[in-house]
Amino acid sequence: MSHEGIRIVDEREARRADRAPLPREAVDPAKVCIHKTEGTGMEIEWKDGHTSGWTFRWLRDACPCATCHEAREAAGLSPGERRPASAPLLPMYEAPPCPNSVEPAGRYAVVFHWNDGHSSGIYSWDFLRRNCQCEECRKGKRE
Ligand SMILES: [Zn+2]
Ligand SMILES: [Zn+2]
Repeated sequence: MSHEGIRIVDEREARRADRAPLPREAVDPAKVCIHKTEGTGMEIEWKDGHTSGWTFRWLRDACPCATCHEAREAAGLSPGERRPASAPLLPMYEAPPCPNSVEPAGRYAVVFHWNDGHSSGIYSWDFLRRNCQCEECRKGKRE
């Protein structure tokens, strides 16, 4: 009799499991849709059948480059989380984030050239899948 697969996962272990490699089909896109004209965001259909979606706002705020990562760490934010607005007296108009172009980075990632000039972030399939913003995955993370 095998006990494989029957494990009691405590919180610490669950977090470690979160870093465990994902199945290949889960991080291999079958179809990538970038809704640039609509300005809405990106959608990926993975080979394991799951469909992920992210808004450009989320993607911009989740930029994985070292500078943005450190800024988020310092502010205690997780990827895609917005810094609470400091309510300026004269709010400046800020164009909603949208990529001017999106380029593949090898076979494992994409690079966004954002309309604010930023383009240092390399968004790996792994990073995107782990931060899937679909209803189902977000619910799973909250629980
Ligand atoms: Zn960045
Ligand atoms: Zn999902």
